[in-house]
Amino acid sequence: MHNEWSQLKNELPELLEQSRKETIHGQVAEYIPELAHAPAQGLGITIADRQGNVIHAGDCSISFTLQSISKVFTLMLALMDNGEETVFTKVGKEPTGDDFNSMLKLELVEPGIPFNPLINAGAIAVSSMIKGKSPQEKAGRVLEFFHTLTGDASLTVNEKVYLSEKRTAHRNRSLAYFLKENQVLDEDTDVEEVLDVYFRHCSIETNCGHLAAMAVILANQGADPATGVQLIPKRYVQIAKTFMISCGMYNASGEFAIQAGIPAKSGVSGGILALVPGRYGIGVIGPALNSKGNSTAGVHLLESLSRSYGWSMF
Ligand code: GLN
Repeated sequence: MHNEWSQLKNELPELLEQSRKETIHGQVAEYIPELAHAPAQGLGITIADRQGNVIHAGDCSISFTLQSISKVFTLMLALMDNGEETVFTKVGKEPTGDDFNSMLKLELVEPGIPFNPLINAGAIAVSSMIKGKSPQEKAGRVLEFFHTLTGDASLTVNEKVYLSEKRTAHRNRSLAYFLKENQVLDEDTDVEEVLDVYFRHCSIETNCGHLAAMAVILANQGADPATGVQLIPKRYVQIAKTFMISCGMYNASGEFAIQAGIPAKSGVSGGILALVPGRYGIGVIGPALNSKGNSTAGVHLLESLSRSYGWSMF
């Protein structure tokens, strides 16, 4: 283990520069206008082990928003708030094979609940299950959860990105109204309020260090590796990690499971949170995305690391 860590330290910069070449095959997301300013050639990675050691390589100073990575954590918070049985009456457990913001299956497949919590429709349903008296309180509880997991109480919503998404989220708005039509959101739910919670957690500003710190908690089955305190029940971490394998990289999750074989969750900001169970938490940023919405260089880097170090779980 110790040998692997020093080898990683030595080899990471070179592996990263190899993967950086993949950025030319990707494009920065523009459908949320504020995301378009991200550096297209950027690539950075942080790896944290359970002993508190951290390695950074590349452009780790880039800050970015959590976007879909937040869905893994809102899922666990909703599970902590409501229990497994209730959550899975509103959202399913299966991959879709469709784009992350697709509406298709909501109409095609009865009873019209989102297929899983990591696609947009599913995450919006999950946002509606976060407890709190007001959207502000709900969004505040989500933010606090991230403060606890990152150990950084200065973590906050990037207002520009939040407003940019709120202004342009026609598709997510349609999805949410469809969910109301299908009674996934109750009759008395204010759709705009649910969306507000969703946009806010997607817009939390972060960096690779935060992602690695949160991922190593998942790698440690929900316990803080430094203190041993169980921050998230093991069962909910198990559920989250399983979704990361089956749906975490959207409709490229099967491919990623074959090539890298580790739980991961990407976001359209180009961030990827990944983990090697029992060992490492990993945070990656590479804003240039492929057609599935995953960081081209980030995916390449995680796959080459997994191959080099034999990290696949399978
Ligand atoms: N906020 C983004 C959206 O709803 C999250 C999607 C993503 O990261 N894939 O479109």
